[in-house]
Amino acid sequence: MATLHSCIFCRIIKGEIPSYKVFESSKVYAFLDINPLSEGHTLVIPKYHAAKVHELPDDYLAEILPAAKKIALALGATPDDTFQYNLLQNNGALAHQVVPHVHFHVIPKPNEDEGLGVGWPQKESNFDALKASHAKILASLENKL
Ligand code: AMP
Ligand code: ZN
Repeated sequence: MATLHSCIFCRIIKGEIPSYKVFESSKVYAFLDINPLSEGHTLVIPKYHAAKVHELPDDYLAEILPAAKKIALALGATPDDTFQYNLLQNNGALAHQVVPHVHFHVIPKPNEDEGLGVGWPQKESNFDALKASHAKILASLENKL
């Protein structure tokens, strides 16, 4: 696991590695993705080293979505829906996370070919399975909240 010192995104926050910064606050840093899926593809990251979102303190988490909203507005989001985009956040290698420092992608979707492509392998509806899953999650929430 990356340490504070070797983590590429911690080094970007500290200015040790260059980035095209688009927004910064006391707890958040946002910069252009070096290999964009579309023009304006931006990464919003906490100024706190945590690999996965559940490891991040709530005060850092709370500043990320407002920052992502600012980026979306800056990229062209308007009350009509001509500007379309995805917010993406991956946790773990199997879930396509490459850099182990929490990051939210803001990815404009200007057309079919550019931006995020999504696989969505849905299962058939199974209400017995949903009921069992619901009970399991509620029991777990009771223990953890
Ligand atoms: P993920 O697969 O969610 O971990 O995405 C990591 C993202 O970080 C990828 O889209 C990379 O292109 C991007 N990335 C990696 N290194 C840099 C860097 N030095 N500057 C900007 N973006 C980067
Ligand atoms: Zn880091």
